[in-house]
Amino acid sequence: MAKRRFVESRFIQLAESFGFREIATPTFESLELFTAKSGPAIVRDLYAFKDQGGRDLALRPEFTASVLRFYVNDLRSLPKPIKVYNTGNVFRYEEPQKGRYREFFQLNAEIIGAAALPSDAEVLALAIGTMRAIGLKQVKARIGNIGILRSFLPFGPADQAVVLHSLDKRNFEMLESELARLGRKDLAEPLRRIVSLSGDASILDEAAGILGGAGAEGFRYLRELGNLLGAYGVSSSDYAFDMGVVRGLDYYTGMVFEIDSPNLGAEKQVGGGGAYSLAEVFGGERVAQTGFALGLDRLVMAAEAEGTFEPARPLDAYVIPIGEGTQTKAVEILTSLREAGLWADIDLIGRGPSKNLDYANAVGARFTVLLGDRELKAGLATVRDMASGAQREVALADLVDALRSR
Ligand code: AMP
Repeated sequence: MAKRRFVESRFIQLAESFGFREIATPTFESLELFTAKSGPAIVRDLYAFKDQGGRDLALRPEFTASVLRFYVNDLRSLPKPIKVYNTGNVFRYEEPQKGRYREFFQLNAEIIGAAALPSDAEVLALAIGTMRAIGLKQVKARIGNIGILRSFLPFGPADQAVVLHSLDKRNFEMLESELARLGRKDLAEPLRRIVSLSGDASILDEAAGILGGAGAEGFRYLRELGNLLGAYGVSSSDYAFDMGVVRGLDYYTGMVFEIDSPNLGAEKQVGGGGAYSLAEVFGGERVAQTGFALGLDRLVMAAEAEGTFEPARPLDAYVIPIGEGTQTKAVEILTSLREAGLWADIDLIGRGPSKNLDYANAVGARFTVLLGDRELKAGLATVRDMASGAQREVALADLVDALRSR
């Protein structure tokens, strides 16, 4: 948990410092919330059940739907933009494996009601910045624009969705058969080529060439986004433009991204997000939205792999009462240390001094405070520096200062 809290707190600190505010949404929601967002097929990926009142419910598989429901019901009248984050467990009925669980944790942030370009840059800066704040050096964001592919596909929303889905899954057989069905087999070759393009801004020209004029606005958008990311201090080595980032779901409208931590192996994707349009699905008016979710479990694995965890804060003092009749006074001293803001613990078993020193050593306390009858009568404590073994007598009045210093 210390490792998980380390990662989570870095995200929370950064999000707060960017002006995002925390919200919490329920662990379960009506099933309809998720089918409205993602279609009926989502049910097989959910923990869905009926409650005793016969209502169809599901454990949340992600946060975005809940955030948008909350926005439409309660937050609509707040000044825009609305910048919110939340963290917690989510549930998906998946095949478990390393880095892929049925209960896992996400760090989620959304901006609702701002202009697309600046808010897309802001969420990317937060997502990439979080990885930096965790100390990760290996960060690879892949940024695409689903609007470009949509403008190249002269089909209605349902057919577009099938084609995008096959591209998302890199299922080229399915792509070709769908395009054949739609009478546009000629699009297979350029689509195949374009989704393999990944690199710096120069690939945008290459991609524009392949699409022969389609998506010009989307390419311009990505160039401007790159400039803004530079202004945020995001290094160009932290991201690539990648035409193959296809988040196939209908509600993604523009910029889409995924972030990898390259040394995690098969489950290397630590986050994803983009610009989407969902408020109207839940009964609100159309409003621009962008956001992301980072996978906490995978970030912890990445931080482990790169060795970025800071050592846990140790106990400042472990108090050892010695002999009969010292317990009460020892607890008073312990309490004064705690009130002074020190992290302090005390023997709760009544062990002898040498066993207690072993214990203090095992839990990593910086100092032990030995309190015998003779010392207490003289207003003194024996303080032992556990690293050096050096021991000295300290007046009780000076104890806090002595324990604060090294
Ligand atoms: P998604 O909501 O599918 O875009 O996922 C966002 C992030 O959550 C992914 O990039 C992963 O880091 C993480 N994630 C997704 N599914 C799982 C899972 N089954 N187990 C652990 N982490 C996951």
